[in-house]
Amino acid sequence: MSKPILVLNCGSSSIKYQMIDTETEEVLAKGLVQRIATGTTGTVDHEVLSGETGEFHVDQDLPNHEVALATVFKLFDEHGPDLSATVAVAHRTVHGGEKFSAPVLIDEEVVNTMKDLSPLAPLHNPAGIEGINAARKLLTDVPHVGIFDTAFFADLPAEAHTYAIDTELAKKLQIRKYGFHGTSHQFVSGEAAKLLGRDDLKQIVCHLGNGASISAVDAGHAVETSMGLTPLAGLVMGTRSGDIDPGVVAYLSRELGWDAQRIDTELNKKSGMLGLTGHTDMRDVQEAADSGDERTKVGLDVYIHRLVFYIGAYATLMGGLDAITFTAGVGENSAEIREMACERLGLFGVELDKEANATRSKSPRVISTPNSKVKVCVIPTNEELAMARQALALISK
Ligand code: ADP
Repeated sequence: MSKPILVLNCGSSSIKYQMIDTETEEVLAKGLVQRIATGTTGTVDHEVLSGETGEFHVDQDLPNHEVALATVFKLFDEHGPDLSATVAVAHRTVHGGEKFSAPVLIDEEVVNTMKDLSPLAPLHNPAGIEGINAARKLLTDVPHVGIFDTAFFADLPAEAHTYAIDTELAKKLQIRKYGFHGTSHQFVSGEAAKLLGRDDLKQIVCHLGNGASISAVDAGHAVETSMGLTPLAGLVMGTRSGDIDPGVVAYLSRELGWDAQRIDTELNKKSGMLGLTGHTDMRDVQEAADSGDERTKVGLDVYIHRLVFYIGAYATLMGGLDAITFTAGVGENSAEIREMACERLGLFGVELDKEANATRSKSPRVISTPNSKVKVCVIPTNEELAMARQALALISK
């Protein structure tokens, strides 16, 4: 038995999916649904990667997640792989609040609790719930497992997850640091530990994608992370500001009369590298900086400054540092960003092997010199595989 698991990641207008054979960890099929409930024609791209392989495309109105998933499942029926062999469906859910610190079997009560958590992630959780409801309706005979982006950080020490605001207010509104990208941080730190053959590592994981976060992981346990109540805090991202003085929010409101939603949009969608340089994609940022654009150079400096700032702080908090691990789109692909950061970490004994750093590869690898006191690794993240493993572990209990 290959025990395939269907991994679903539902956004408000999109669904990403993979069917993973949990014995060989091979991806059997993957796909992307776009433009759900947008009033325009939706698209489904389905790729079969095992047996009789092929790529299939459908254009169709997709008024909701149920129609979208039904269209995907029809493609499975027509072109494979066999959906009826699926042993579980793993659902990515962004916010688990204080309720979910581990993968959970989804039932009505879990769905209701997730609905209660929606105010904490109004952009993400409602779409996740839509996807869960649709999938449970269409695939009734398999367990559905909720995997939470916050779960890996549920056990952050109190001094790390507590904000210095009125404790009653914090308790009433569940205001605390939750952290995000947890599935990636957990997977990547685990793979780095395997690569280095040590499970007692004091490790810093830099998940640098369009969204970016950094975590301190001590012997497999997360002890700090940069995202907070929402995924807006921390590092400079593609379009998100990361840390700013919270006073800026009230200032914008007073000076410009902006309401909460306007400020949210500004800080989430128009800030970060986009606000600083006019570019979201790090490749464009680097190209502009290389061609001498001063504004972009400053933007890049801000990005690296913030990253190095966190690395220094996290090493101090852990009382040591054995490894720094880079992952996600920028972390895996940009030798320049890795070099710019590592150049400033000589204090900790970081010594980058420039040739290894510049070599392109899709494999987990060490890019520091043999003498480097701190190992530097690049580990491709694979959230889908991590979710499939977690779902399998839960249903096998
Ligand atoms: P997310 O999952 O947060 O959307 P990803 O982890 O897929 O993001 O990362 C996407 C980002 O990775 C792109 O916006 C781009 O900035 C960056 N990226 C991808 N390839 C390269 C590259 N070769 N060099 C620099 N940056 C890259």
